[in-house]
Amino acid sequence: MDQRTHTWIAIRAIALLEDRSNEKNLVKLLKPYAQEASVGAWIPDKIDAKRSGAGSITDNHIIKMEPYTGSQQDRFKTDKTKLLKNLGNHREIHKFLDNDNSLASLNPNWWDQAYRGDIPKRGYHLPNRIMSLGVMMRDLLIMGNRTIDRLIPGKIRFAQYLPDNARTTEEAAAMYFFMLSHFVADASMPCHCDNRKLASYDAGLHKEMEKHWSKIIGTDFEKKNLLEEFIEPDLVLEIARDVDDEFDVDFSNASIKDLLPKHDIWLEFMYYCRASFALACIIAPPDRYSYTDKTVRAPFNQVFADANFLMEVDKLVIYDAVLNTAIVWKYVWNKISKE
Ligand SMILES: [Zn+2]
Repeated sequence: MDQRTHTWIAIRAIALLEDRSNEKNLVKLLKPYAQEASVGAWIPDKIDAKRSGAGSITDNHIIKMEPYTGSQQDRFKTDKTKLLKNLGNHREIHKFLDNDNSLASLNPNWWDQAYRGDIPKRGYHLPNRIMSLGVMMRDLLIMGNRTIDRLIPGKIRFAQYLPDNARTTEEAAAMYFFMLSHFVADASMPCHCDNRKLASYDAGLHKEMEKHWSKIIGTDFEKKNLLEEFIEPDLVLEIARDVDDEFDVDFSNASIKDLLPKHDIWLEFMYYCRASFALACIIAPPDRYSYTDKTVRAPFNQVFADANFLMEVDKLVIYDAVLNTAIVWKYVWNKISKE
């Protein structure tokens, strides 16, 4: 996803929390800085924000899956029933996969196979990144400045010994939430979860999908436009809500649930990324677009020849990216304010 899309997702998630959650203080923290989402939500894709490991600029940032043929087959199998259970029916991708019969006709064994992320180094993948930033943020919020402290119930006694400059400012905290939204949103991008060459950025599908979304979102969310002058936060959120119609998404009944029972962020997004991989395999069915042939391409216009199918994919990716962001933000916030 590009800068505009990430910006809109983060701002729309603030609006969603405002409309559909009881986390009023979290909204109070984020809303004044809504315009700055255009910086924070985009930082992780800046080339110099990715030097976490030698070699790949996308270390920690993706989890590209492929069939697994090693000795731990059971560990890397997730059949459809298990996946749906671990996605929760509050997510659009649950509905989509539940209703989808195309996989069965494409390859009856798709769900029975083991798939695994092709990860450059152990642990260097997207669910880990979301988890680690989320955990770190809990500590940074506990060490928040006096304003943040007032937003969080309970007393943090050691805070009085911290020099004021060492405490997290509201603006910095908002920036961390926006950065977190980036990784959460990336989990919804099917190409980030598919190891086939056809899903790489310049192979005719990935970039085109991203351009398609950012065109719909529009120039209001372009960084230079959004940061040009101060805009009342209420208005920023309203402009973001206005985009819903363009995607035909309706958040009025959205349920910003907690993570599913026995899940942590890592597991929740491991399952979500598996679902995104399934979506990638519906968009470009593996029996036509093979896993092993590195020359095969799935051009945007070919796989989305059916405009209704494209709209369906847009709708679910966009809806879930916003919802997942609100879910993770709320979870991180409640970890310090309720537990
Ligand atoms: Zn990214």
